[in-house]
Parts: sequence; C-alpha cells; structure tokens
Amino acid sequence: MRPEILFPLFADAETLPKVGAKTARLIERACGGRPVRDLLFHAPASLIDRRKQNAVADAPDGEIATLEVHIDQHLGREGPRRPYRVRASDDSAFLTLAWFHAKPDWLRRIAPEGATRIVSGKVERFGSEIQMLHPDHIVAPGEADQIPEIEPVYPLTADLSGKMLRAAIALSVERAPDLPEWLDQPMRDREGWPGWLEAVTAMHAPQAVEDLKPTTPGRMRLAYDEILAHQLALSLTRARRKALPGRAISGDGKIVSVVLKAAPFKPTGAQERAAKEVFADLALPQRMTRLLHGDVGSGKTFVAALAAARAAEAGMQTAVMAPTEILARQHAASLKAFLEPAGLTVAALTGRDKGKARGEILERMAGGEIDVVCGTHALFQEGVDFADLGLAVVDEQHRFGVSDRMKLGAKGMRPDTLVMTATPIPRTLALSIYGDLDVSRLDEKPPGRTPVTTSAVPMERLPEIVERVTAAVKRGERVYWVCPLVEESDRSDLSAATDRKAHLETVTGLRIGLVHGQMKAAEKEQAALAFRNGETDILVATTVIEVGVDSPDATVMIIEHAERFGLAQLHQLRGRVGRSDKKSSCVLLYQHPLGETAKARLDALRRTEDGFEIAEEDWKLRGSGDLLGVRQSGLPDFKLVTLEAHGNLMRMAADDARYVVETDPELKGKRGEALRVLLYLFGRDDGVRLLRSG
Ligand code: ADP
Ligand code: MG
Repeated sequence: MRPEILFPLFADAETLPKVGAKTARLIERACGGRPVRDLLFHAPASLIDRRKQNAVADAPDGEIATLEVHIDQHLGREGPRRPYRVRASDDSAFLTLAWFHAKPDWLRRIAPEGATRIVSGKVERFGSEIQMLHPDHIVAPGEADQIPEIEPVYPLTADLSGKMLRAAIALSVERAPDLPEWLDQPMRDREGWPGWLEAVTAMHAPQAVEDLKPTTPGRMRLAYDEILAHQLALSLTRARRKALPGRAISGDGKIVSVVLKAAPFKPTGAQERAAKEVFADLALPQRMTRLLHGDVGSGKTFVAALAAARAAEAGMQTAVMAPTEILARQHAASLKAFLEPAGLTVAALTGRDKGKARGEILERMAGGEIDVVCGTHALFQEGVDFADLGLAVVDEQHRFGVSDRMKLGAKGMRPDTLVMTATPIPRTLALSIYGDLDVSRLDEKPPGRTPVTTSAVPMERLPEIVERVTAAVKRGERVYWVCPLVEESDRSDLSAATDRKAHLETVTGLRIGLVHGQMKAAEKEQAALAFRNGETDILVATTVIEVGVDSPDATVMIIEHAERFGLAQLHQLRGRVGRSDKKSSCVLLYQHPLGETAKARLDALRRTEDGFEIAEEDWKLRGSGDLLGVRQSGLPDFKLVTLEAHGNLMRMAADDARYVVETDPELKGKRGEALRVLLYLFGRDDGVRLLRSG
C-alpha cells in the first residue's frame, strides 16, 4: 500500500481549489497525468521577469513590462467592437491601457483617474502609440509586492491558460510534503544536491534563466531520484529472479568440445568470455537471465550453439526463438552446421509447418529426440511440449520487447534464458533498459570480416553506380539494392522496389530478385535463398532484409534515399555485406538537398563501422525519444529526466541500486524505508510488490 505521506501527491488535480473536471483534463494533457505529483513534476520552460522598469518609453515592443504610471483619463469605448481605453503616462511617454469586455465600473475602481498604478503586461507599439492590452496586473504602489517579480512559464496545451496552470502548480508546491531522504548523504554532499522538497520548490521558483536548466543541482537530484527508482525496481526484479529456483545445468564438456573442434573457426576472445559466463550461469541452481549484446555479425549464434551443447550435455533441450520465420530457419541452418557434428538434432518449427510434418516434429520434441528447436512465436502455442526444456534462447534482433521475453515464463516453462540482441544502444541507455539482466557483451568482431568501404553519392550519379554494380556482378559478386521508404502516400514501398527491379533488368540484363514486406514468409525465404545460392545477381529489397538474410557472397550494398533512413537502420543494412574475405562496399545514394542532420548521419556512417559508436552518434543527433528500438525496448517514459542532460546519472544510479539490493534486499533499514517511498512516488509499485511477495 502506498505510504500515507504520499497521499497529498496522489490526490487528483481536481482536489485543488478552482480546478474543475474540465481543467483537470487539460492539466492531464499538459502534465501527463492527473495526480498532484504530475503537476509538481511539470518543469517550467521559461520565465517572465516582472521586475519594475524605469520608463514607458523604454519598454520593448512585444515584451512583458512592469511600469509605474499615472492614470490620466478614461477614454472609454469608441465603438461597439472597440476596446475600452484608459490613457496613462509617466515622464517619458503615454501608455494606453485597453480592455475588451470589461465593465467600466470595475475599471474605474481598479484604475481611478488621478491615481498612480503599477501595471504589468505585454507592451505593443503601433507607430508612436504604446499600448498594453489586458494588463496581467494592476495594483496601487503600496501593493507592488502582489506582483511576482519572476513568474515561471509552463509548457501548455490548447485551451489551458498559463495563469491557470501556474496557479495549480503553485498550489501543488504548497501541498508537497517533506519526504524522508532516500539518497545517501555522502553522495548528496559530494554532488551538492539539495533535499527533495527544496529541489521541487526551487524548480518552480526560477530567479533567472540559468535556473531553468536541467542541470541545476536541484534538477539533477530530481532526475537522479527518478532514475534511481527505475534502477531499483530493475535490481529488485533481477534479485528476485535470481532467487527463483532454477536448475543447475552442467556437463562433462564432451559435446561442447566436439562443437568447438568441428567449428570452421576459432572463437573470438569475446565469444569465449561470453560462453564462460553463460556456462557459469547455467551451472547455478538459479534461473539464468542473461543478455548477449553484440553488433550484427559479432557471432552471437555460435555462443548460442555452445550454450545449447552444454544443455544437451545435461540431457536437456534448447528452444531458440526468433522474430521472423526467415530468421528462425536461418538459425536452424547455422545451428545444424555447428551442432550436428556432435550428434545433436536440430529442427525448425514455424507457423509454416502444418499438418503431418508439424505433428511429427512436435512428437519428436515431446519425445526428446530433438535437442534444439528453432521457431517464432509459434513455439509458444498450445500443443507444443518439450521432453525437458532447459534453455531458451531469445533472439530479439530489433523487434522483441520485454513482454515477449516473459511469455515463456507465463506458459509455465521456466528455462534458463539467454536473450540475444543487436540493437545498438548507447551504454548508458543499455543500463536503463537491460538493468534487470546480466549482460555479456560481444565487443570483438570475428576475424575475416573485411572493412566495408562506405561512400555517399548523389542520386544524379545513379548511372555510374549501375555500372559499378554490373562490374561487381561480372566479377562473380552479388549485390543488395535497398529501395527507399516512400513518403508520398500514393506510392508504396513496394512500387518503388518494383520499379527499380524493372529498371535494373532493362539496363543491366542481369538476374534480379525482389523481396518486400507484402510477400508471404515462404516467398521471402525463397527469394533470399535464390540470392544466396547465386540464382539471382541483385536482390532488390525494401527494408525487410534488415531481418535475416545472410549471404556471404554479397559484397555490395546500395541504399537508395539513404537520407530517409535512421543511422541505426543504415548500420544494420550495411552489416549485410563484408561477411567474407572479399572487399565490400556500401553506397549511400542520397537526394539533394541534404539536411544537416542527414548529412551528419551519412558522415558518421562513413567514419565508423562500430555499432555502439554509431548508436552514441545517433543518440546525439536525434535525441533519445527517437532512437530506433529504444522505445520498444522498455525504456520508461521519464518525467524529470532528459537523457542528454542526465545520461551520466544512469551508471551512478545502477551502482547505487545494486548496492542497496545487496546490503538491504528487503528495504528494511532507514534508507530502505525511504526508498520504498521513492518507488511509490514514481509509480514503481511493482518493485515494492516484489519485496512483499518474496
Ligand atoms: P550475429 O548473430 O551476432 O549477427 P552471427 O552469429 O550470424 O552473428 O555470425 C556472423 C558470421 O560470423 C557467421 O557467418 C558466423 O559463422 C561467423 N562467425 C562467428 N564466429 C566466428 C569466429 N569466431 N570466427 C570467424 N567467423 C565467425
Ligand atoms: Mg544473428
């Protein structure tokens, strides 16, 4: 249950004075939620300076000014649709105050002729006339302190007035309780961070533009709080999972050693390290949840093969899950090559397998005759039974999300799990997304991969590129040609790819294959196979080839309208070539004029082939919100965190959270109790629930 101290923060915005149902709905839209907490976490974007200025004549056009004036004369209204006007002045100039729809009686009361008034509002100049329409404030000199000197300005939504939101937020700040300190005092001292209440109060009381920055000590603290809540929930999940009973999977090394001997290559150092970590996890009596993070082509499949071999030594089966049928079948083919020499049986099972053939595979799985089965979601379906499933390998590529990962568990299967991903996520983010997993990184490419020469070429030089492509094919090489994502609504990706295929057939006379998103899985696979087997020379494709075509003889990658692709996507596409000892190249065909970001993207791609470096670059160029795969990968929608400003807090919070879980796993100490409040504050009730049910 939510601690009582947080009740005021979780009260609905409607409980605030003067906030009705309609305003509450607008507040929800502007602040992302209805609880008072969400108002409190809505940071101002700018400020209004209402400190008094000297002279009417100096007030700049279009800006807020606060001026002391003499009320000379009520001019009244000149016509039905004209404003009511009052002439005021100081020594420097006249100032016309104007109101539409205001009652003259009221105006005479607040601004009587002959009085001195301080007025504050937006000044507009029309020729020599200086005007203030609907002043925000109008008070007698003795009441000058009623005008706030500096007012925060908040991001709004249509129909919600700044005044209303500001008032509601001010009330929220008044309601904010002083919460127990959940931060480590030495850390606070070192960073110079204020307490929580002081930090939220300061956020809403900026005195200067610098105070609006997300890097002020107060804002850093609040961001850290939010990241810590997230990391703590992840760490608790991780600790809890580790406490779940699993099975110790170990073996005598016989099958593994045959696999190693039969492999056509020596494992890289990174592969050896990863395999060792996986074996150690498997041998523990707890459930493994390990992430194998490595760029495209880093050799994750071989590590999976070794893990499957170890499971087989323990007499257990392995299931390999892929996001697409092509990929599932490709995994089956690779694993067959690695594992059959050691006497293991590998099969594929996808939605395509129907009827008798399917029945037979299912039977052999249930009977334990099949050691490794590769499939898609079909593996989760009813009627799929294993004799003894020990290990699940989930290849997320770029598609699966956290929820899919958990489905296996929901089916009542609790195998050790190895998650593989090639999503190039900057290190700091990876921590936030995969903080609940143990991570093995394949940070070393297998040898024999030749660097890919990358060039950016304007579309006008298409004929020259076609010539180069033709020459490559004449040398016995093969070419991928990726067609643009089409933006015009009247043409589909497909028609662009079809047109290109026809064009290339006409001008080159070569054999051109086509693969696109609207094809059935079997057709796609056929096209991919024909290309792989050399029956076609060029494979024209929409981006579907991102997932799963592996053709070592392909040496040229042409990407049309490269400026329309994201950096990570371009990197994945390029990863399809350079898979043999032949020299490979990637041509980024672009359309003039190239925007600045697009140019930076293409430059980055020419500069490096390192997926993680590219991910960092992508992050810089696009901001976090847009990063390919990140949203789907389970990065929370932070309220107070901008990754650009607070990314460096991720590591700190992850270490902090792990330390807490190690030293006070039940969150029972003084700091632990406060951390429970933190978890609730950020809606990480799930983290607390884990504690209770444990
Ligand atoms: P990933 O799944 O990480 O993208 P793969 O497992 O598909 O990468 O491996 C890419 C290619 O590299 C495959 O052809 C694979 O057989 C090969 N490979 C894997 N490990 C090595 C190694 N240690 N030395 C040489 N080639 C390797
Ligand atoms: Mg792979």
